[in-house]
Amino acid sequence: MAEKRDYYEVLGVDRNASAEEIKKAYRSLARKLHPDVNKAPDAEERFKEVKEAYDVLSDEQKRAQYDRYGHIDPNQGIGGGGFSGADFGGFGDIFDMFFGGGSRRDPNAPQRGSDLQYTMTIEFKEAVFGVEKDITIPRTETCDTCRGSGARPGTKPETCSVCRGTGQQEIVQNTPFGRIVNRRLCSQCGGTGRVVRDKCATCRGTGKVKRQRTIHVRIPAGVDEGAQIRLSGEGEAGSRGGPPGDLYIVIRVKPHEFFEREGDDIYCEVPLTFAQAALGDEIEVPTLTEKVKLRIPAGTQTGTYFRLKGKGVPRLRGMGQGDQHVKVTVVTPTNLTEEQKELLRQFAGLSQESAYVPGGQSETLFERMKRAFRGE
Ligand SMILES: [Zn+2]
Ligand SMILES: [Zn+2]
Repeated sequence: MAEKRDYYEVLGVDRNASAEEIKKAYRSLARKLHPDVNKAPDAEERFKEVKEAYDVLSDEQKRAQYDRYGHIDPNQGIGGGGFSGADFGGFGDIFDMFFGGGSRRDPNAPQRGSDLQYTMTIEFKEAVFGVEKDITIPRTETCDTCRGSGARPGTKPETCSVCRGTGQQEIVQNTPFGRIVNRRLCSQCGGTGRVVRDKCATCRGTGKVKRQRTIHVRIPAGVDEGAQIRLSGEGEAGSRGGPPGDLYIVIRVKPHEFFEREGDDIYCEVPLTFAQAALGDEIEVPTLTEKVKLRIPAGTQTGTYFRLKGKGVPRLRGMGQGDQHVKVTVVTPTNLTEEQKELLRQFAGLSQESAYVPGGQSETLFERMKRAFRGE
């Protein structure tokens, strides 16, 4: 299939032609080419071409689409091939970047700066209680000398002579299949539509400068791994008077040697000797702020959890704090002395006689297991 001619070229109008001019051009061509009037062999073909061009350029929405994407197979619509601003995330942004954002065809429209991201690693307790830190980030800022125009103070940027300020340039290629019109960023102005003749010495005409900027960051109490803190307006500088982007602080939390965290609750594990677990005891448990006493009842099994109410993480949103959960683990003694071993043997002998009541309430887990092995 032959490549289609550019619609503006078909109608013989300027790219910036008004709706009125397009209508006028169409009417005059239609009169000239109408098959009833014009008997030239290609008249009908050309008439169809003119009609198609007019159908697109006379419709504001279709014209805007055509200006952005060029010829599109009408059967596929704008989404054809996955090249739609809507379902291909960054595509619209790329175009906005090239063509000035906001109103799409105006390269002089203000453009918002890019967002920045900074990953901050903090200590476990800093996440729990909050912290303030200074960070230094490289970012672009609007040049103070020229206030972003890029022109030496006292001078002004000029409208680009190549694209006449549109920021776009047409490249026409003649191929065996017909003429192909491609629109590209203007090579002279890079799509800005303006050329700076007398450049600002500070920014060398770009209107922006790279800076190392130190920013004070307040991390609220209760943040967790992966949290994002947005600092509005602390991103890259905008263009042509557009606002700066935002800075996102992404929080990473270092693990603690003793505590683990799940939401607003803190978990920890403490060892108990066999005697403490069997006889009961009062132990000291560290929390995030202090040591607290915890009573272990006699006969505590390994893996039992105890809750210390309100000893967890302050809630990021809302009032109060989470809890601390203490898991006790009974540690089997090792490296026993001969005397200790003898005492344990005596203990084992005693407990076998006293604890075993077949099928009774006090039958221990061990006794039940023994019976199971004997096949009772
Ligand atoms: Zn400057
Ligand atoms: Zn240009």
